[in-house]
Amino acid sequence: QEIVTFRQVHKIYNNGTVALSNFNLTIKEGEFISFLGPSGCGKSTALRMIAGLGEPTKGELKVYQKSPKEMISETNDIAFVFQDSNLLPWRSVLDNVMLPLELRGISKRKRKEEAMRVLEMVGLKDYLKAYPRELSGGMKMRVSIARALAAKPKLLLMDEPFAALDEMTRQGLQLELLDIWKKEKTTILFVTHNVFEAVFLSSKIAVMSARPGRLSSVIDVNLPYP
Ligand code: ADP
Ligand code: ADP
Repeated sequence: QEIVTFRQVHKIYNNGTVALSNFNLTIKEGEFISFLGPSGCGKSTALRMIAGLGEPTKGELKVYQKSPKEMISETNDIAFVFQDSNLLPWRSVLDNVMLPLELRGISKRKRKEEAMRVLEMVGLKDYLKAYPRELSGGMKMRVSIARALAAKPKLLLMDEPFAALDEMTRQGLQLELLDIWKKEKTTILFVTHNVFEAVFLSSKIAVMSARPGRLSSVIDVNLPYP
């Protein structure tokens, strides 16, 4: 099933910056696709538009056959993980992860059950009561991933989530993310400017060119994952 379709999408910001130019791409269910390219090539713009943050200036973008705005307002099927983990500092780890479920009116017992499940998956079940300031960068990122997964999104959007982390932490989280992808069967869209990260993680790579926001090629990665 086609989940995301860009058809001849152009994105020109108000100040005249061309971020995407004649961008065509189809993303299918279950893929782990990386947007790879140098800084400023339009990766974040593409990802943000899928999340309903900004519309194409020209062309068509469909997410589950709908406009991203419709998709966001009607369902909770899209989750976003940013580079900076974006946790609420006054809420504990558990409360941060339960937040999206709270907003959906899910019962307290169910919220806790689901939050515990995802926190266990990211190896943080011993930190339920900790506050973000007590956690390392890698742990905060884990909480942020758990929070995104708690809502069981069909589509997980990640914008350079590991960029600010040290190499060891990054590698640990990359392996965890691959595990999660296989277990949860979520479609993952991942923005990175790191070639190794893209090759290691993805089933597909959308290589973008700096000259303004064009897609250079789409590569199938067939690595023999363990
Ligand atoms: P990447 O994620 O690949 O680094 P971006 O999508 O963030 O690229 O940016 C693509 C281009 O659009 C860059 O030239 C950037 O400076 C510009 N840009 C991004 N957001 C805005 C904005 N809100 N207003 C104006 N220009 C923007
Ligand atoms: P990323 O680290 O994901 O590539 P950026 O640093 O490009 O993100 O952008 C961070 C924020 O600043 C975004 O909201 C983006 O839209 C905005 N932004 C980026 N470049 C510009 C620009 N040239 N003018 C105005 N806003 C911009």
